[in-house]
Formats: sequence, C-alpha cells, structure tokens
Amino acid sequence: MSGGETVLVTGGSGYIGGWCVTGLLKQGYVVRTTVRDLGKEAGVRAALATQVDPGNRLSFHVADLTADEGWDAAVEGCDYVLHVASPLGVADPKDPNDLIVPAREGARRSVGAAIRAGVKRVVLTSSVAAASKSAAGGDWVSDETVWTDPQAPKLGAYAQSKTLAERAAWDLINTSAGETSLATVNPALVLGPVTSGDFSESIQVVERLLSGRVPGLPRLGFNVVDVRDVADLHIRAMTDPKAAGERFIAAANYAWMGDLAALLRERLGAEAAKVPTRKVPDFVIRLAGLFDKDLGSVTPSLGHKHDFSSEKAQRMLGWKPRPLEETILDCAKSLIAAGAV
Ligand code: NAP
Repeated sequence: MSGGETVLVTGGSGYIGGWCVTGLLKQGYVVRTTVRDLGKEAGVRAALATQVDPGNRLSFHVADLTADEGWDAAVEGCDYVLHVASPLGVADPKDPNDLIVPAREGARRSVGAAIRAGVKRVVLTSSVAAASKSAAGGDWVSDETVWTDPQAPKLGAYAQSKTLAERAAWDLINTSAGETSLATVNPALVLGPVTSGDFSESIQVVERLLSGRVPGLPRLGFNVVDVRDVADLHIRAMTDPKAAGERFIAAANYAWMGDLAALLRERLGAEAAKVPTRKVPDFVIRLAGLFDKDLGSVTPSLGHKHDFSSEKAQRMLGWKPRPLEETILDCAKSLIAAGAV
C-alpha cells in the first residue's frame, strides 16, 4: 500500500494506462494522468468507475508527446512516473517517423521532466518489440538480455519506435547525475478485459476473430499477457528496490491463432458462431503479403514460434501472470458487453 504517494501515469486514456491507474488507485496512491485533450477526461473517468472509485485521488493534466508544454507541471511533486503513452501501430505508416518521433521524443520529455523533478523512479512501458531476435525465420525464445537491432532490414516502424524510445530513456537516466532510477516493462501481446468500446489496437486479434472479420486462421502465434498483470508488473517495478536499472519482459502464454479460435468456440458457444475454423495455408498469406504491406510484415514469422520468457519478473519481483483462458475469455466477454462485436 502507498502511504499516499503520488504517481503520474502518462496516457491514462489508453488500455494499459487505464489499468495502471486502476491498480494504483486500488492500492491507495494519489494518481495524476496525462491526456492530449481534456475532452477525454469524462470518458476515462467513466471507464475507471467500472473498476474503482477514485474519490478525490485522481487528476488530469494535458501533455502531448510531441510538445514540451505541460510535462514539468504534470510531474512536479510526484514520487513516481509510469510512462505508458506511445502511439501504437499495427499497420506501418508511410513515414516511420510518424511513430518513431512521438515515441522517442515523448520518452525524452517525460523521463527528462521526471529527472528534473527528482522523482524516485520512472517505469517506462517498452515492448517485446524492443527485445526481439531477428524477425526472420527459425523458432526462438528471447529475454531481457536481447536488444532489437533498430537498423535490421524490414523491421517495422513500431518495433523501431519502441526500441529507440527505450534506448533514449536509458541514455537519459545513465547520463543524469540525479537520484531518479529507471525500470522498463516490456509486454508481449496485451489482451484481457476492456472497460469501454474505445480500445487498443492489440484487442483487434480477439475482436476480429469474434466478429468473423478474418477469413481463416493463419499459422501465426504470439505470447499473450493479461492487461491486469501488465499493470501489476508496472507497480511492482515501481516500488521494488531490486527493479532499479532493470528491464522486465511481461509475457505469459504462447498461443497460435488456431488455439485462440478453438478456445473462443469451445467456451462461448453461440456467441462465438462467427469465429473461423478454416486454416489458411502459408502460401496464401505469402501471396497476399506481396500486395498488402501489413500482411507482408508478418510472413517471415509464419509457422515460427517467437516466444519471450518472463522468468526474471517472476523470480525477482514475485510476479504471477494468469492463465490464457482467463485472459481471452474476459477479453471476449468484455467486448460483447461493450457491444463491440
Ligand atoms: P492505447 O490504448 O492505444 O494507448 C496509447 C496511449 O498513448 C493513449 O493514452 C494515447 O492517448 C497515448 N498517446 C499516443 N500518442 C500520443 C501523443 N502524441 N501524446 C500523448 N499521448 C499519446 O495502447 P496500449 O495498448 O495501452 O499501449 C500503451 C503502451 O504499451 C504503449 O507504450 C505501447 O507501445 C505499449 N505496449 C502495448 C502492447 C499491446 O499489446 N497493447 C504490447 C507491448 C507494449 P490518446 O487517447 O490521446 O490517443
């Protein structure tokens, strides 16, 4: 429990940010959150109210990753910062800088403000995309000792943005004379319950399966981690003295698209009637990938298991991720309840 300490969570309007705010409020912290536009405050409050009563312990500040204004004021007087905000990108933008610049400069702005304000620790939400071995071919398991090569050929803009943003944060902390420490949480594919109909792009995996918006099941798999466990790991990394200066992979259960589809069909019955059963052969995806840039970016990993170990977070911080079934079914039920499928 917090003893009334104050935490700034950047990007409280987002999926992971919202669950971090919820977790902190439940543990008694005073929470500030940044949004780009105060017009989002009412919606964020309504989504949070489904989980926790913030009382008078929650406030909103305006700060944009792409501008200097607002960052110092938002951080001033905080004990900790969770820097979660960053643009997501399932589809590669025409110009990679559309993702890279806000991610990297935003990390510099929030970590810089945290150092100037002398906060105890910043936890930055990075990604397994910043801790991956080569995207091409072969099966592998990666961990925190691995850094993605941001210059690797065919590396997507999102992976570049997360790698360069995390690097920028470590560079700032390592060259600062202050007492502020840094830890990063590097999540795999984050799923689990949504609290409103406005949700992260990562949820599309379950949303598209349930709404039948995918024609079949390609041989693609991911490590899936629950959003509630990702928030819990941020809070552990924020307060545990052992976490200073460390990266933590937040990964839980590897699943192929076919596994996810089977789970939804078995457990949701009629509500999963549109979930496809047909497998799509690799050559069909490869052919389609010649014409569709987004599909083209996943073809090298077709049929390959690219997995991530969270042994470090479990051993050092006592973190225990929940089973896949709970994550997927809670995600699906919340999408149905929100009228999103
Ligand atoms: P999300 O729901 O799309 O939230 C992204 C947040 O970033 C939103 O609050 C958004 O604010 C904010 N943001 C984006 N651009 C901004 C800008 N220019 N200035 C200020 N705020 C900005 O995504 P999420 O899934 O929660 O992702 C949160 C973090 O987790 C990101 O750092 C992401 O890279 C990382 N991550 C996510 C996953 C996943 O599977 N979801 C996996 C690994 C890592 P608005 O509401 O104003 O757009």
